[in-house]
Amino acid sequence: MPRTTEQVADALRICNDAGQSVVPQGGMTGLAGGAVPRTTDIALSLERMRGIEEIDAAAATISVWAGTTLQDIQQAALDAGFLFPLDLGARGSCQIGGNIATNAGGNAVIRYGMTRDLVLGLEVVLADGRVLDLLNKMIKNNCGYDLKQCFIGSEGTLGVITRAILKLAPQPGETTTLLCALPDYSSAVNLLRRVQRSAGTPQAYELMWQDFFRLGVSWLENPVAPMSDEHPLYVLFESAGPRELLEQTLEAAIEAGEVLDAIMASSHTQARALWKIREATGEFPLRLSPLNFDVSLPIGQIGEFAELCRQRLDQRWPGNHSVYFGHIGDSNLHLTVDCNSLPQPAPILEIEELVYTAVGELGGSVSAEHGIGLLKREFLHHSVSAEARLAMQQLKNSFDPKGILNPGKIL
Ligand code: ZN
Repeated sequence: MPRTTEQVADALRICNDAGQSVVPQGGMTGLAGGAVPRTTDIALSLERMRGIEEIDAAAATISVWAGTTLQDIQQAALDAGFLFPLDLGARGSCQIGGNIATNAGGNAVIRYGMTRDLVLGLEVVLADGRVLDLLNKMIKNNCGYDLKQCFIGSEGTLGVITRAILKLAPQPGETTTLLCALPDYSSAVNLLRRVQRSAGTPQAYELMWQDFFRLGVSWLENPVAPMSDEHPLYVLFESAGPRELLEQTLEAAIEAGEVLDAIMASSHTQARALWKIREATGEFPLRLSPLNFDVSLPIGQIGEFAELCRQRLDQRWPGNHSVYFGHIGDSNLHLTVDCNSLPQPAPILEIEELVYTAVGELGGSVSAEHGIGLLKREFLHHSVSAEARLAMQQLKNSFDPKGILNPGKIL
């Protein structure tokens, strides 16, 4: 549990000389097993290296230590009149170093991009203890290879991130939350483009298939759906556009047959109640035996993929219960299979193979926002070619020739 960059460098130099493997750890909230050590590894926790170093209002940047929680960064940004737009459920315990190392996503990606898009500079310690000063506040900076990009999403396999300079955004002001029922998948894409043209890119755009919607409603304190639960799809979205403009956009969408029913939240309380349905995912571990997928496909193919997947799952395991939802504006679909609805012991590997094969067939990615870690390593080949995996291995060898950093993850 080092307190300074120098201590991280010392620890890594000693481990590298001894050939001792090291697993960097942040808040331990990752969903792909990237920070899980084996019995022979040393865990290097960044949690004592926390705090905000500086907010530069002119540059709209915040400089932080890697062990700072996401929520502390969000709060510091708010207090300074800005928004730090990265947001995910684990905000209170996840650490920014881990968010960067996994290139975390979340609900606001559609508007502000992935973690990668919010990082301007990094300080990184290499396996042999060398410190790379890649700290930078400038948007335009084309000085050769952009080395920091190698470490974003590398899940601790190429170096240990110790400090970061992040982009801040202006606060969006009042936002409006809407729930719309849709007749089919293509309407979800058409509605998104329509809203983008009129009111700008939404702050969030969360699609829920009927099965997910019904499940989310059934878990509400007062389990009454805010509109009929007979519709095929529902989208929950949040826009910073003027309400009048949103109303006009909705009217046009209803006229075009893209929207069957709609609710525009008239208060913060009503907006929170609508979000509660989408946030049913937080209760998955308590109420289901969930096998969660986080995949990515070109936005036009997501509807087709969901149908194909459901068809194959139903054919192989009749009566299985799976639900579909996702941040489709970012081409990201989540699906969860409840293992309680399957023969026991649940055929987890077989289900994973079925889903990832379908992802590969449609040209998708086996990880959208959670990373590869341990859990998806065996499936990487469905979306990364042999040549590209070899290039990844060569990059790994050049930064960490003894292979001490997080061995067995990703590759
Ligand atoms: Zn997600």
